[in-house]
Amino acid sequence: MSKPTILLIYTGGTIGMAKDPKTGNLRAFNFDNLLTKIPELNLLDCQITTVSIQAPIDSSNMTPNHWVEIAELIEHHYERCDGFVVLHGSDTMSYTASALSFMLENLTKPIIFTGSQLPIGDLRTDAKENLITSIQIAALQQKDTAVVQEVAIYFEYKLYRANRTTKINAEHFEAFTSLNYPALITSGVHLNINYEALFKPKLTQKLNIHKTLNTNVTIVKLFPGISKPIITALFSLPHLEGIILETFGAGNAITNKWFIELLQATLQRGVHIVNVTQCLQGHVIMGQYETSTQLKKIGLISGHNITTEAAVTKLMYLLSKTNTPNEFRIAYETSLRGELS
Ligand code: ASP
Repeated sequence: MSKPTILLIYTGGTIGMAKDPKTGNLRAFNFDNLLTKIPELNLLDCQITTVSIQAPIDSSNMTPNHWVEIAELIEHHYERCDGFVVLHGSDTMSYTASALSFMLENLTKPIIFTGSQLPIGDLRTDAKENLITSIQIAALQQKDTAVVQEVAIYFEYKLYRANRTTKINAEHFEAFTSLNYPALITSGVHLNINYEALFKPKLTQKLNIHKTLNTNVTIVKLFPGISKPIITALFSLPHLEGIILETFGAGNAITNKWFIELLQATLQRGVHIVNVTQCLQGHVIMGQYETSTQLKKIGLISGHNITTEAAVTKLMYLLSKTNTPNEFRIAYETSLRGELS
């Protein structure tokens, strides 16, 4: 049997940097020299090739155009490769990986995002473990089929479904969490695979890549004291087509008449409003409290237990399709890639 072929896609971020020994500054190193930087990669039982996006960046500068560029690299190498590892800055990794999960429909191969808190050239780096285990996971096969058939993030001994993750720590190696869905794989002495939790794609359908994303969207986080003129101005923006409304607790919001009327007027303009909780764990249950009953009545979409990162990228993805308000609601409230339950 031939060895699995893995493509490493470099997009930038701390992982691909090394300290200039003279100045001490962090600089992106030439990724073609990866195997010299990490000779351990030669010991892995797979064939590794590397490719970069045109201009690798700090992930704070990621845009939907970069997401399309990554999707196109995957599309170009999809038949040839058995798995993909995307090296990406951790700051916006959950957004990019969530977006890719929606853009890559009927995926049957692993797309593993990883990065690191310390550069690969640093003595105490977490990059080596993250990279080596990500490649091993991307190469995992059983009966000629990939074990992981979805977009995932591997960081600090855990593989999570990408669209369930959030970056919660700018300091610790354990930078990500997935509080509404269990880890897919935990790395210890062995790779402990949670088979139950893995996404089961429809194997009969061909990969379908969606490259159009609609960015006429915004995220509005409620807070006590939010002012009527400011929120009215936000909701009245001319090109707005979708809003992620981050509400309190189980999807609760202020019950003032002006606020409900503002939501109603916005919905009537054809703008979709999704109710997503500010809490990292738990569900939106509209109607559980009096403070969310009106939201349900006027027709807000429930984000259930979706993360904000997945919510906004799902909005961009679904808005690019021409759906009636009702079709849009049904699609949004349905789990498309395991992003909500
Ligand atoms: N600022 C960096 C980035 O997101 C941090 C990292 O790589 O983890 O690109």
